[in-house]
Amino acid sequence: MGIKSITKTYEIQIAKSSHKCSSNSRHLINKGDRRLSIREGRSSKTYCLECADKILNTGVAHLLKTLESIKKTSTSSQEGSDSLL
Ligand SMILES: [Zn+2]
Repeated sequence: MGIKSITKTYEIQIAKSSHKCSSNSRHLINKGDRRLSIREGRSSKTYCLECADKILNTGVAHLLKTLESIKKTSTSSQEGSDSLL
């Protein structure tokens, strides 16, 4: 093992109290709601699921783009990588 996981910087949590979303103060996260927590340095920010959806989709798009760039610079001998899925 020993492979660093970027997914450790965020997690879905259950809100222990109601509070505002870090992305939009008009979004309210109620106690007991699921929320996305993203660690930023020593603190962490929490987002409502609506914002979490956007953040995660952007993250996925970025990860796929990064993966693409890795594949492009490495050997292009792997044709038809459908079997990887
Ligand atoms: Zn929000």
